[in-house]
Amino acid sequence: MPTSRPKAHRTTESALDMPSMGRALLLASRAARLRCPHCGKGRVLKSFNAVHDRCAGCNFRFNRSDDDYFSGAMFFGMMIGETLAVLAIGAAIWATYPNVPWSFLQYAIPVALLGVMIILFPVSRVVWLAIDVLLRPVERSELMDPVVRQPASEP
Ligand SMILES: [Zn+2]
Repeated sequence: MPTSRPKAHRTTESALDMPSMGRALLLASRAARLRCPHCGKGRVLKSFNAVHDRCAGCNFRFNRSDDDYFSGAMFFGMMIGETLAVLAIGAAIWATYPNVPWSFLQYAIPVALLGVMIILFPVSRVVWLAIDVLLRPVERSELMDPVVRQPASEP
């Protein structure tokens, strides 16, 4: 029975679940391919700055709440991006030691830290969605089209 909910309510109320390692690896591979974490077929990203409303493969609604669902993705974007940037900087220092180009790195490091955040912005949304699906499995209702309501009165 469909129920109406307040606008900023989550569209899923599935309980948190302890994922298995196999499921975590499966969802990680789907996220790495930027695919739907539920079925692995449909693309999550519509463009660099936009997410599809629903999966083309399984009709899963990617935006799992009406209230800035993907704002939590920034954390994962920073975590992944800054880790990769620090590893790259460390590798550059290690490869050029003892003649490390410090004067170049003082400009390259801030550019790299900012650039990787921008480049990984769309990826962070897919990672966020995959982690959410990993911990809070998709409910059947999330795969269904929204109920089309008829106007209360016709003129
Ligand atoms: Zn799907």
